[in-house]
Amino acid sequence: MNLRIGHGWDSHAFQAGVPLRIGGIAIDHPEGLAGHSDGDVLLHALTDALLGAVAAGDIGTFFPPGDARWKNADSTIFLNLALEEIQHAGYRIVNLDATLVLAKPKITPIAGEIRERLADLLNMDTKAISIKAKTPEGLGLDHVAQAHATVLLEKVEDPEEMKSMSAVIENQRHLEDVVRNLLAEVHGTLPQRQTVKVKVFDTEDIT
Ligand code: MG
Repeated sequence: MNLRIGHGWDSHAFQAGVPLRIGGIAIDHPEGLAGHSDGDVLLHALTDALLGAVAAGDIGTFFPPGDARWKNADSTIFLNLALEEIQHAGYRIVNLDATLVLAKPKITPIAGEIRERLADLLNMDTKAISIKAKTPEGLGLDHVAQAHATVLLEKVEDPEEMKSMSAVIENQRHLEDVVRNLLAEVHGTLPQRQTVKVKVFDTEDIT
């Protein structure tokens, strides 16, 4: 069996007055995560894990830090790009395991909702998605959220399965277009889809 493994990590500081989004869902909490995009620390770690599994760079490779087009962007755009990359390389996700490290809010009560959201975004069975959480004991990082994500990929042998993966990506692309139009309303310009890859691995990531 042709397998690949990928790991991603990200961190964002909490900030008052910002909506909190983790794992693609909105969470009722007094503070959100600061970032150039929507600050979804879990989707960023997952995006890096998927890109890393097919050696396609990292989130900063495709979405340069500070690019005005991605200001407040929905991080599902980044995840969708990573899905396209693994499909292009001929792989599908077998399972994913993630750990969130944060003092608040408690993740256990909403882990099921996050798993279901990720299952929709990735077209996976919920049972193949693990979301764990720990508090940052002894780290002095109670005002920071960190996410670790590990994914296992396997080579797709059946061309029909590859077609169904494409259908999922088209659905995600529709969502992406909706977000682009929202961004255009705010900024007055329509962001163009990123097609040019930067070869360097950009480790500076403020997405
Ligand atoms: Mg990030």
